Amino acid sequence: MDLTESPAPLDFIREIVAADLASGKHGTVVTRFPPEPNGYLHIGHAKSICLNFGIAAQFGGRCHLRYDDTNPTKEEQEYIESIERDVRWLGFDWGTHLYFASDYFERMYAWGERLIGKGKAYVCDCSAEEVRQRRGTLTEPGRACGHRERPAAESLDLFRRMRSGEFPDGARTLRAKIDMGSGNINMRDPVLYRILHAPHPHAGAAWCIYPMYDYAHPLEDAIEGITHSVCTLEFEDHRPFYDWVIDECELPEPHPRQIEFARLNLTYTVMSKRKLLQLVQEGVVSGWDDPRMPTISGLRRRGFTPEAIRDFADRIGVAKRDSVVDVQLLEHCLREDLNRRAPRKFAVLRPLKLVIENYPEGQVEAFDVPNNPEDPAAGTRAVPFSRVLWIEQDDFRETPPPKYFRLFPGNEVRLRSAYLVRCTGVVKDAAGNVVEVRAAYDPATRGGATPDGRKVKATLHWLSAAHAVPAEVRLYDRLLTKPDAGDVEEGRDWKSNLNADSLEALGDCWVEPSLAGAAPGERVQFERLGYFCLDPDSAAGKLVFNRTVTLRDTWAKIEEKQRG
Ligand code: ATP
Ligand code: MG
Repeated sequence: MDLTESPAPLDFIREIVAADLASGKHGTVVTRFPPEPNGYLHIGHAKSICLNFGIAAQFGGRCHLRYDDTNPTKEEQEYIESIERDVRWLGFDWGTHLYFASDYFERMYAWGERLIGKGKAYVCDCSAEEVRQRRGTLTEPGRACGHRERPAAESLDLFRRMRSGEFPDGARTLRAKIDMGSGNINMRDPVLYRILHAPHPHAGAAWCIYPMYDYAHPLEDAIEGITHSVCTLEFEDHRPFYDWVIDECELPEPHPRQIEFARLNLTYTVMSKRKLLQLVQEGVVSGWDDPRMPTISGLRRRGFTPEAIRDFADRIGVAKRDSVVDVQLLEHCLREDLNRRAPRKFAVLRPLKLVIENYPEGQVEAFDVPNNPEDPAAGTRAVPFSRVLWIEQDDFRETPPPKYFRLFPGNEVRLRSAYLVRCTGVVKDAAGNVVEVRAAYDPATRGGATPDGRKVKATLHWLSAAHAVPAEVRLYDRLLTKPDAGDVEEGRDWKSNLNADSLEALGDCWVEPSLAGAAPGERVQFERLGYFCLDPDSAAGKLVFNRTVTLRDTWAKIEEKQRG
């Protein structure tokens, strides 16, 4: 992919990068995307991926994919595979630069010993609770414990015995020796290593002590020669410790620089892996790739395109202050892309039978219908027409409400690309429900033309009942009922905001025969209904479509209004 063609305008991070290249501080820019493999990637990660890989591409550098796998109990191989699939699908490539933080464990340990030797780290026997109690608060300094002054030789001996497995989980930690009175709580002798007797999915059974994120991350960056370590705002207060680790471990210049940006928040969306995992584990959704999930795999299954997600990431840009982005902007980017590319098809989701009384029994005509009015090169396809058709229930009213121009007794409408038809009556069942609509067609309007110039106000889509292919269509609504995922009533769980009606499955739909051989992942526009994507659940006998998004572009209207 060539991202250099349309360089993004310089945001504050790109300005720093450009300046560091201009000054000669760095010859090549090296960024990284460092997920912890403890869940599937979501749209927030996509922002970080587009940013890190985008900067590398724009400035002719490289971006590493690195698993920040320092927390063995929550990490799994399944997640690793999904992460690679998702980053690739988004259109990015790490080449040979795939790394595991756990491959650096031996070096991290050696630096731990060095810090002890320098008097910059000590083994502490306090429990997690004791450490917490002595840490102090924003207004009170922390209090040192007696272990802080233990001789380096004693700490070194204990650290080695920690590694060899002599002590149980939580019995001791290795802590940095910085300043218990620091105004920054992160500098009050933070923990570097903890004891955890748990095998690691990548490193195996080699370790029973594991480095803490804040200690490991700067070392990972330095080892890989990362120049700009981009992370989210909550790490701003951790930056002094990031720099401390790199300085005290005496890593060669030039040092990586941590730069913080605002994480993506979206309306009506939960964006934490912990909460998403909860939805999966509790069966609220069918899996990480449920089309309602904000995960990249969920968005993909829903029918999102990587182009739309990259466009979205470009448009939101990067900022230094947290904000919430309207999910309608994401959907707007998607509609723009699909409008250009998705072939148009006919589908009837809630079928009602329409019989053309004066159309010869057994006759079939094929009408050429444009595949995409936005793209004349897309050509046309033949859609068969016959005496018995399916139309949408919504497109007929026995008693029309005001301003209803679709089919009702006596009214004439156009069947798209076919004929004009006039409603002649209905057939009802014993309960009085309309089960069939009758109409007469005008042979002089073949192809939907009106040689006499007469006007009809509605054009309906339709399917020939004898030719249509059965399908299930899944309609999705927002997973949450409130725009702010954190707006939870007192005493209630965040899941009390879950939308109980986020999925509606319609089992008796029909689609046009040209879709019979469609492959999962294929995206179409069902005329007048929205954009849809064929789901992998589709078996030979039944096509299953997900509604990706409706046609109504609320965001475009908001933008129009703003332009005034
Ligand atoms: P979560 O809070 O959802 O569990 P995380 O930050 O723990 O996410 P990581 O796997 O550590 O997940 O994230 C990998 C990278 O993606 C990090 O650099 C992180 O800053 C970035 N990232 C995570 N969530 C977002 C977000 N909402 N917006 C932008 N970047 C994000
Ligand atoms: Mg994290």
